[in-house]
Amino acid sequence: MPMDKIRSLKSRRAQAARRELFLALGGKCARCSKTENLEMDCIVSVGSEHHFMSWPERIRFYWQQHLQNNLQLLCPTCHHLKTFLENTRCKILANQTALARAATSFVEHCAAARELHGVRGGEKSSAAE
Ligand SMILES: [Zn+2]
Repeated sequence: MPMDKIRSLKSRRAQAARRELFLALGGKCARCSKTENLEMDCIVSVGSEHHFMSWPERIRFYWQQHLQNNLQLLCPTCHHLKTFLENTRCKILANQTALARAATSFVEHCAAARELHGVRGGEKSSAAE
């Protein structure tokens, strides 16, 4: 097989893996739900070494992060904001998403508990998406 064909096959495979990962991550910005120009972001920063990897290696790296629940999709605006906050050491603000997620699962937990104990009233909030 000619070299360029192998390369395009490889990159196609990497593209498919990337698409799959995007879908696994919900296909939208974790903060504002935008669906365009999404970027992958390690929730807890693990440095920038992976930015210098080849695409297939990066995808593998991102999948590993995803399996450790440390990956999210962000739109460029939210990504910049997070990076900015990280750089200014506002770690708590930078990881608002992690807090929001914890709060969301707490709300869901309460709703499930209510359901379990037969307490009615109060629609399940859709604001906590
Ligand atoms: Zn966003």
